[in-house]
Amino acid sequence: MSEIRFKAISEALNISNRAIEEKGRRSALFATHVFNEDRMLQYLTRDALKSVKDAAQSGSKINRKTADQVAEAMKAWAISLGATHYTHWFQPLTGATAEKHDAFFDLLSDGKALEKFEGGQLVQQEPDASSFPSGGIRNTFEARGYTAWDPTSPAFIYGTTLCIPTVFVSYTGEALDNKAPLLRALHAVDAAATAVARYFDKNVSKVHATLGWEQEYFLIDKSLANARPDLVLAGRTLVGHAAAKGQQLDDHYFGVIPLRAISFMQDLELECTRLGIPVKTRHNEVAPNQFEIAPVFEEANLAVDHNLLLMDIMEKVADRHHFKVLFHEKPFAGINGSGKHNNWSLATDTGVNLLSPGSTPMKNLQFLTFFINTIKAVDGYEELLRSSIASASNDHRLGANEAPPAIMSIFVGQQLSDVLDELEGVSQGKLSPEEKTELKLNVVGKIPEILLDNTDRNRTSPFAFTGNKFEIRGVGSRTNCAKPMTVLNTIVANQLREFKKEVDTLINQKKLKKDEAVFNVLREYIKASKRIRFDGDGYSPEWEAEAAKRKLSNHKSTPEAVQVLTSKKSLELFARTEVMSEAEVKARLEVELDTYILQTQIEGRVYNELVYNHIIPAAIGYQNILIENVTGLKEIYGAAYSKYAGELLSIIEQISEHLVDIKKKTDQMTEARKRANTMQDLNKKAFAYCNEIRPFFDAIRYHSDKLEQLVQNDVWPLAKYRELLFIK
Ligand code: ADP
Ligand code: MG
Repeated sequence: MSEIRFKAISEALNISNRAIEEKGRRSALFATHVFNEDRMLQYLTRDALKSVKDAAQSGSKINRKTADQVAEAMKAWAISLGATHYTHWFQPLTGATAEKHDAFFDLLSDGKALEKFEGGQLVQQEPDASSFPSGGIRNTFEARGYTAWDPTSPAFIYGTTLCIPTVFVSYTGEALDNKAPLLRALHAVDAAATAVARYFDKNVSKVHATLGWEQEYFLIDKSLANARPDLVLAGRTLVGHAAAKGQQLDDHYFGVIPLRAISFMQDLELECTRLGIPVKTRHNEVAPNQFEIAPVFEEANLAVDHNLLLMDIMEKVADRHHFKVLFHEKPFAGINGSGKHNNWSLATDTGVNLLSPGSTPMKNLQFLTFFINTIKAVDGYEELLRSSIASASNDHRLGANEAPPAIMSIFVGQQLSDVLDELEGVSQGKLSPEEKTELKLNVVGKIPEILLDNTDRNRTSPFAFTGNKFEIRGVGSRTNCAKPMTVLNTIVANQLREFKKEVDTLINQKKLKKDEAVFNVLREYIKASKRIRFDGDGYSPEWEAEAAKRKLSNHKSTPEAVQVLTSKKSLELFARTEVMSEAEVKARLEVELDTYILQTQIEGRVYNELVYNHIIPAAIGYQNILIENVTGLKEIYGAAYSKYAGELLSIIEQISEHLVDIKKKTDQMTEARKRANTMQDLNKKAFAYCNEIRPFFDAIRYHSDKLEQLVQNDVWPLAKYRELLFIK
């Protein structure tokens, strides 16, 4: 090891040791900038605190007087920490978060100044909704949109602003955001799962979904990133030849984190800690300059808010460290892209993880109930789940040759597969005492608490059971987790309701004992949902063929994948569970298609700019140097020049060929875009962008990457992969 490298590593270790010391102190800083229960205890009367807690627990209304008191308390606390403004913080369908800051500062009629923040301002605001996508909801109803306080997610101070998490709804009550449907889905799964959990424990009165996300991202030197129009405008490199070295040596994964990155991470973790985001792990990812950050899991709504807040903080902290953080799912061709695993489970208010195998047969029957119902739910709505993670940028991962595939399947591991196979053999109706004993002792009773092959195995599965939770692996790194979480919790709620109905019928009409009834229904579910279980290699072409036989959907592009949103089956599901009305679902389909079109359109325009303003001029510039050289050789050598210029002529020729082709393809792409832009039907337009425009991108890229290889390094106008990915 060279001395310099050794020094760098030991310095990095020193820094991480300091970070560990700081971690000791981190607990003291945790959530200092969050108006959580501790703060409320300090600032609110007992009645007001109870009122807020009830609202968070059961959705009860907070009266105006209490709201005034809470607002006053929040204001006092926020001002004591230097806040000057407040904002309703919400999640419009753009996928990001939005905020409009108002100052606490106000003037009274007599001209006196004061800091004002009242219950009315806390509970509801009316931001200008017209600039946010609504999928036509506002056109058909009323233009106004309201943000309304979500007391289940605590207010926090970010910079000098008090941020109040809110839902965003139209005048007529339709959700215009990602949070409102999520809250409804979480409510539905709470009701359904509580009813089922009470078969096993009467003390359960609430179940909440838990989410632990793992966020992958790239860190790129800011000035290099800013020198690339594609990274600035589209978030990914639209052209760029692979560097001589990529990720083949696997030397980045879990390696020593580069110093600059460590310093960024420390700063980031500090900010997260203050804001109550319990980040816990950080490490290098597979690709060069790719990293991951993950927190301890939390209640799903809070975890979603925290992930959105994290992405925002990351961009700001990165800027301070002269980095640009890339959340795009596939910022670089030829090396791994970024995802955001969503670890999900259900937890009772008695402190039990319903997806954790236990130490007794009864606990395991409860575990199996929730485990098998989740499998059944995903089997019934695999296509809908796939739609929830679809986006133009995630198509590069899901639909392409990168993990995980666009086909939904579930990995359960060998031990649990065996258990499911045995349960499938249970006889119908009443069980003999021997059979019951056998079942309890040797099947259910034998499930180990620690499932050895489930921890981190089978990275190719898009939906894997990992010991005590399911992990959705196809979520895009940029995607708002609210989308997959809404669908997953809705389909599980729907499934658990169905299960409860069936079990109750067997108990009441067939006079079966409770556990017999549970076994009977579960057995049928195991049989019915077999096709979704797959423990093999999800990347293999054999699986694609097999999945087609099993009639599992395999949508490689967003326009295809999102169609299912408005199928009769989906609309009925959302209506039955009261998660979304037909108008809300249709609006979402429209927004998904529109976003897809806009993002692809931007890429098309950037290609145009890159080709005409950067690539063609650079290639011509270099070609002219060659031509000048050849002309010079001719002058010197006369007829004998070709002996020396022959090879040069071949480079000139290659450049010309690529120039002709890249111009042609770019012009054809522009023509195709013009045609698509005249289309009125959103669906047709999205498919045109997908099938008629996007294919040109690859062709243009091909010629650009060839030219990059031919052209002199210092005239090539775009920072290269070598520079973007390997400069620390
Ligand atoms: P690994 O998968 O790397 O072995 P863990 O199993 O501890 O690590 O967890 C990975 C992620 O899963 C973490 O983000 C963690 O917070 C989350 N997680 C763990 N348990 C749960 C749970 N019950 N519900 C939701 N997320 C969870
Ligand atoms: Mg994981």
